[in-house]
Amino acid sequence: MIKSLIALAFATCATFASANAQSYPSKPITIIVPFAAGGPTDVLARTLGDRMRVALGQTVIVENVTGAGGTIGVTRAVRAAPDGYTVSFGHLGTHVVNGAIYPLPFDLLNDLEPVGQIGANPMLIVSKNAVPAKNLKELIAWLKANESKATLGTAGVGSGSHFSGVYFQSLIGTKGQYVPYRGTGPAMQDLVAGQIDLIVDQASNSMPQVQGGKIRAYAVTAPKRIAAAPEIPTVDEAGLPGFHILLWSGVWVPKGTPKDIIAKLNAAMVEALGDAGVQKRFGELGLELPTRAQMTPEALGAHQKAEAAKWWPMIKAANVKPEG
Ligand code: ASP
Repeated sequence: MIKSLIALAFATCATFASANAQSYPSKPITIIVPFAAGGPTDVLARTLGDRMRVALGQTVIVENVTGAGGTIGVTRAVRAAPDGYTVSFGHLGTHVVNGAIYPLPFDLLNDLEPVGQIGANPMLIVSKNAVPAKNLKELIAWLKANESKATLGTAGVGSGSHFSGVYFQSLIGTKGQYVPYRGTGPAMQDLVAGQIDLIVDQASNSMPQVQGGKIRAYAVTAPKRIAAAPEIPTVDEAGLPGFHILLWSGVWVPKGTPKDIIAKLNAAMVEALGDAGVQKRFGELGLELPTRAQMTPEALGAHQKAEAAKWWPMIKAANVKPEG
């Protein structure tokens, strides 16, 4: 009797889950962006979310849940119902690096289900125009001469701009001070206004300001120049060979989300990434499209774990402390 009741309960749950998946999405979907509005993660989420709305036939809302290098927003997503209505947007910093810095109350690599990779951005080393350096070698010399007062804007400890800054300064042997913001959108406003000196920033955030003459770019952290900004040399050409960082972004959902709902979200994401308008915008922002094979949930899960194996030892050795 008990056995058949349990079997019935399981069967009912399974029917309920698959009925849910069939009617999914029947209400608005919320994308949690763990950084401030106007920054690169936000712009990426809105660009993609707008097109995913068409694919899914549902409203897609972007909610900026900021703070502590993105961990506040990611925590919110981990704790959300696993029903496909809460989606976690993030990148190498929020979904890999932070696991080596913060004492998170969950397992960053296993408590979210991957949906797919959405785009990757090299970083640009940029400064306010008032910094007198005209190329990367001069910038490094300026930093060495001014390290007690030089400031680097970041999106909080563990963010892309922060660990890229830490890596940069460890290579050149300086100790400029980090200034945390809730995203590199607000950090960029302060760089343009001359309140901070530098950002090692995602290309998509900096390029419009560089091209508008509001800030100066020294190098791109990639072995190849960016097609939309061919005047900016690579770090290898500019004098810091091997300082390569590719800040890839992705989409996740809470653990336990039904597989067919993940498949629907992935299909909408793939459709959005195939859209000519989205691809044009990616090109303008120096964002690299993932290959079709990189867009699968399995590929994102594997990449996230491989990146943790690569970055966690370096981050732990650098002994970076969470912000208080
Ligand atoms: N991409 C930024 C970072 O991690 C944050 C943001 O998107 O605003 O540095």
